[in-house]
Amino acid sequence: MRNKKIDLNEKLRKVSCDVLVIGGGEAGLRAAIGAHDSGADVLIISKSKKGDPHTVLATGGINGALATMNPNDSWMIHAADTLKEGCFLADS
Ligand SMILES: Cc1cc2nc3c(=O)[nH]c(=O)nc-3n(C[C@H](O)[C@H](O)[C@H](O)COP(=O)(O)OP(=O)(O)OC[C@H]3O[C@@H](n4cnc5c(N)ncnc54)[C@H](O)[C@@H]3O)c2cc1C
Repeated sequence: MRNKKIDLNEKLRKVSCDVLVIGGGEAGLRAAIGAHDSGADVLIISKSKKGDPHTVLATGGINGALATMNPNDSWMIHAADTLKEGCFLADS
């Protein structure tokens, strides 16, 4: 994985990679790690500053449906809980 910031003041130049990940939050970083571990040359592009994605606001720990506490847990229940807790404002 590259660890080089692209200077936007530099002249336009071509950069190549096997996998381009757009978004540097947890979803993008996880995808980048997976692609890197599979041997791909990965580039992440993000429009926010390094500390700005919503991921850094998740101070309660990252929730996920891993079924480690309850075998009946599923991503569908997790999604339903998330929509309900957001008063269904994110249901579109
Ligand atoms: C205040 C707050 C508290 C939270 N607390 C919790 C919690 O305690 N536990 C929990 O599990 N979840 C919590 N969440 C939800 C959690 O933060 C998000 O579900 C999760 O971080 C989303 O990750 P993500 O990678 O999908 O998005 P983000 O972390 O938002 O990352 C998206 C990235 O994509 C970039 N991007 C967007 N559009 C473009 C574009 N057009 N071009 C280039 N880059 C782009 C953004 O700049 C950003 O870097 C909270 C959210 C907020 C706002």
